[in-house]
Amino acid sequence: MKKALLQKVKRGEISFHEIDKTLDPNASIELRRTAVSELTGTSFNHISNYSLDVENVTKRNIENMIGAIQVPLGVAGPLRIKGEYAIGDYYIPLATTEGALVASAHRGCSAITFSGGANVRIFKDEMTRAPVFRTKNIIGAKKLADWVDANFLMLKQKAESTTRFGELLSINAFTTGRTVYLRFSYNTKDAMGMNMVTIATDAAVDLILSRNDVELVALSGNMCSDKKPAAINTILGRGKTVSADVFMVKETISEILKTTPEKMAEVSYSKNLLGSARAGSLGFNAHAANIAAAMFIACGQDAAHVVEASNAITTMELTDEGLYCSVTLPSLNVGTVGGGTRISTQQECLNMMGVAGAGDPPGTNAKKLAEIIAAAVLAGEISLIGALAARHLARAHAALGR
Ligand code: NAP
Repeated sequence: MKKALLQKVKRGEISFHEIDKTLDPNASIELRRTAVSELTGTSFNHISNYSLDVENVTKRNIENMIGAIQVPLGVAGPLRIKGEYAIGDYYIPLATTEGALVASAHRGCSAITFSGGANVRIFKDEMTRAPVFRTKNIIGAKKLADWVDANFLMLKQKAESTTRFGELLSINAFTTGRTVYLRFSYNTKDAMGMNMVTIATDAAVDLILSRNDVELVALSGNMCSDKKPAAINTILGRGKTVSADVFMVKETISEILKTTPEKMAEVSYSKNLLGSARAGSLGFNAHAANIAAAMFIACGQDAAHVVEASNAITTMELTDEGLYCSVTLPSLNVGTVGGGTRISTQQECLNMMGVAGAGDPPGTNAKKLAEIIAAAVLAGEISLIGALAARHLARAHAALGR
């Protein structure tokens, strides 16, 4: 029976997803993998080896599964953090194939920990979804915006009826001619929240459509703005808006980073600020995306949200005693429940930092994770700017990365 099924799949008479209707998840994965192996002449000795819970993963995380990719996992730290949720010394899981990245992050962690730890604070916590509507003309656009303002509590009730945890905080209208974007902002507690806010906003949209003479163009109109570099996220924030800072004395910089506060301040000014401005970059940082990507992959976050984490701004200011360093991530989208956080390997990484699953009270685990990521990004910034200031970057990559 399996042989006949395999031939049908290979001939395209049965599509990859239809196999799931006939076989159990493990058999389905194996048959699909065999079909692709034979169709492409590729042997899959490695992607067929994994310990993931196939039942769960195929229900919630992946379609047409044929195996799993392995990414090496390293650890940096301990990193001392003085946040409101993350307080203490943490080991940082980093999944990456970029040689020298973990070593660099580790060095940054040492500099921060030796300096007494990084302060971290969350300034805003709002996940957004922005449907787009077409009205008759600008008079209709204004009418819709006014109606939404006047009926916010009714819309909030409707949106929140779809979730036990989500809270609708605000709806901001943006218009372009007769087109109206309503940016819904939610507190999503421990969930990163994109599914949650999409479902909740869809319910609110039904109510809007039933009471107004307007058309919905799309449930997402890009004013959200999900998974794209966007000034709106930098200015208004999306997910967690979080900052980390540390003060390092000259001796720490010379012993751990092998450079001086003056050189680091100059590199940071010329690179992070001037260079980014000249390049028209939305990210005024050295490599925030590097640490975010490695932690996102390790911790089951949506990897596409690295683009929003890359909007970070890094500052390094010279003082009489040393160097003040900070990083601000306006749009860090992270969660500790839902999405990829349920997968066993990713759960282990979250557990390592004491943030797996729902927090008590709800929301505190996701905030703790955001604080840890922000502090780790700061460690990455300090180490890379230090390496550039000491002209160590090319040497470190030559030694460790190739
Ligand atoms: P989710 O996997 O849909 O699950 C989150 C749900 O967990 C919440 O909605 C909530 O259910 C429940 N929950 C249990 N304990 C909770 C707690 N302490 N705090 C908050 N919620 C708790 O996850 P999601 O975070 O909403 O969405 C993440 C997924 O969305 C990722 O897989 C991502 O790749 C994907 N994504 C979707 C879109 C989209 O447009 N839909 C866009 C980008 C990414 P209740 O709501 O029922 O209370």
